[in-house]
Amino acid sequence: MSKPESSNVRDLLFGNLWDYSPAPESADHVTIKPRYGHFINNKFVDGENYFQTINPANEQVLSELATADAKAVDAAVQAARKAYDKYWRPMSGAERAKYIYRIARMIQEKARELAIVETMDGGKPIKESRDVDVPLAAAHFFYYAGWADKLDYAFPGSKPTSLGVVGQIIPWNFPLLMAAWKIAPALAAGNTVVLKPAESTPLTCMLLAEIIQEADLPPGVVNFVNGFGQTGAAIVNHPDIDKIAFTGSTDVGKIIQRSIAGSRKKLTLELGGKGANIIFDDAPIDQAVEGIVNGIYFNQGHVCCAGSRLLVQENIAETVIAKLKHRIATLRVGDPLDKNTDVGAINSREQLNRIREMVAVGEAEGATKHESRCVLPEKGFFFAPTFFTGVTPSHRIAQEEIFGPVLSVLTFRTPEEAIAKANNTPYGLGCGVWSDKGSKLFKVAGALQAGIVWGNTYNKFDPTSPFGGYKESGFGREGGVHGLLPYLEVR
Ligand code: ADP
Repeated sequence: MSKPESSNVRDLLFGNLWDYSPAPESADHVTIKPRYGHFINNKFVDGENYFQTINPANEQVLSELATADAKAVDAAVQAARKAYDKYWRPMSGAERAKYIYRIARMIQEKARELAIVETMDGGKPIKESRDVDVPLAAAHFFYYAGWADKLDYAFPGSKPTSLGVVGQIIPWNFPLLMAAWKIAPALAAGNTVVLKPAESTPLTCMLLAEIIQEADLPPGVVNFVNGFGQTGAAIVNHPDIDKIAFTGSTDVGKIIQRSIAGSRKKLTLELGGKGANIIFDDAPIDQAVEGIVNGIYFNQGHVCCAGSRLLVQENIAETVIAKLKHRIATLRVGDPLDKNTDVGAINSREQLNRIREMVAVGEAEGATKHESRCVLPEKGFFFAPTFFTGVTPSHRIAQEEIFGPVLSVLTFRTPEEAIAKANNTPYGLGCGVWSDKGSKLFKVAGALQAGIVWGNTYNKFDPTSPFGGYKESGFGREGGVHGLLPYLEVR
């Protein structure tokens, strides 16, 4: 790290605080195959048509994947059904646990490779994929492996049984972690799986498929198919699927809910969010500012439970906004593989366009835009950390999910007003409350219509802790003993 070139006020306020030498993670030892077929019965099977996945940080093609049509989805479902009847259902929980532990350990062994591929395919900073996504993915397999032989004790007084074949559809924001959230409890509960990764981030699931092959799971227990919305719809509508687990947009969640209405299929949905970070005047302000930054800028705002609204008590608003301005000026935006990068690439051009559109809406609605003056790379999809002041609850930027590094700042005077404003969205996924007073913190947290409320922190995850939504953010929980329930019939 070289010394600051200048310490004049502009530099302090708008960046260049420290010039770091580039510290890119080397991708030399990582193997991404040029092509991946459908992963069925522990084998990659050729497809008829292929689509490409690119690195959003430099727009280079990384690999191509077979697009699964209804026929390929059917082959995957048939394989999962056969594996369920022949291997997985008759197997004891203790035996199933051994396989799940094996997957967990292999994720740990290949952690570096998985983190690099996650960053290359999705655009998130390497420090996020290395320190958050991959360790948490392994932790979920470890945690649910522990449940596989203890299901009879999970819900006292009842006899849980597996459901059969589950179809799982995941988004692009946490590709490997979402796969772990879905596959680990499904397998522990005794089900077999057909999973579709998002079309823009399929690669870590292909590495997970190789791990499953190497872990020697019985063929057909876990199958992966790739493709776009039509492939997802083919899974949802397949008659031999017993349960659908979906994470993605509220719009697609509603389509899925309509498609399976009246069928025997069970459903869990984890959808959008418009999380609020509520900061009271007795909060530790510097920590709270770090929490805001963690809640919305790290990960490019690509988190369903992102703290994309800041509700700050009026008497400290000026101080918090000044500190926030300073802090976003110091965020390093750029090469996601660089270990110093705080904010990586936006996942796709479409997503970048959506963010730009919403920011234009915010300006047209009369809110005041503040953005970091960082220099963005010329190639790839990048967006500077931004926040809006002068936002009112009716503004679209206060209501709609932006899914980018864009924060809307609103103020409040009383705890009641903070609660009313925080709850004033169709969503209810994540919220944060910052206060020195435990009683206030718990009172406000209890009144928030959100599945997760963090106290004096934000975006902390643990496999033992359930995650899920209220209202239009979905239903069902992932994580913890609650996360087993959607994969079991409990009588
Ligand atoms: P996002 O806006 O986060 O990309 P989407 O809901 O569009 O969320 O996508 C989440 C996942 O759902 C992806 O794997 C996508 O391919 C899949 N998907 C999109 N449309 C449908 C659909 N009609 N039925 C089932 N899955 C779908």
